[in-house]
Amino acid sequence: MEEKLKKLEEFLTPKSDYFYNPGDFITAEEIDVILKFPQAMRKNLMPGIPNGVSRTSKNFYRYSAELRCRKCGEKVLFENITKNQLLEKISSKRWGCVCDMCKQKEIDERSRQRSAYEAERLCQLPMFLSPDNSFCPEVKPWKRYSLLRNILPFSEQDFAQYAEDLKALSYHDFLKTPYWDAISQKVRQRYHYMCSLCGRKEGLNVHHKTYIHHGYEAYHLEDLICLCAKCHSKFHGKEIA
Ligand SMILES: [Zn+2]
Ligand SMILES: [Zn+2]
Ligand SMILES: [Zn+2]
Repeated sequence: MEEKLKKLEEFLTPKSDYFYNPGDFITAEEIDVILKFPQAMRKNLMPGIPNGVSRTSKNFYRYSAELRCRKCGEKVLFENITKNQLLEKISSKRWGCVCDMCKQKEIDERSRQRSAYEAERLCQLPMFLSPDNSFCPEVKPWKRYSLLRNILPFSEQDFAQYAEDLKALSYHDFLKTPYWDAISQKVRQRYHYMCSLCGRKEGLNVHHKTYIHHGYEAYHLEDLICLCAKCHSKFHGKEIA
């Protein structure tokens, strides 16, 4: 009986003998063995940082370990990591690491996907630039600008070749493009569907205050203004564009 109680007590007492000592190097093969056992049993593999040790002594309780890349299985060396960091790395949820090569591959793949996506978006752009196209009537006027916005290159410079195509159109044809349709709808909305001079709500036109950015209107909405036909004609003499 005595013997059994002693054994029980021994069994329940946290063990003070660790398999590893501070500074040890743990190989990938050893980690393979460790991984065969449940997480709860890994606490006694090595001492962690004891309570109350000074900052400099904390550095003593560090280990080196070889983990495997979870993509390719290649060994990756981790140096000077704490017990907690190591156990975290081999915990079942976030097992291991990704080696630099696989990381690079992931980055490359993502940027390849992004440029494929960009290219696909730009494919749609010419449809907006042709006077022969127009929005389906189902596409609500207020929605058109966001459709254009979604496929426009982020920078004005990247739009240069498309702007050239727009500038090559006669002004009459330019006004027929879905590009201008979308933009002029946006400008009307910005001015609350009112003439910015007299407040009239009928017969609105969108007028270029300047043509410096012609072709690049999408990047310079501030150049455009909403006017009623009457006020607009003041800017153009008789003819209205
Ligand atoms: Zn890898
Ligand atoms: Zn005008
Ligand atoms: Zn007006």
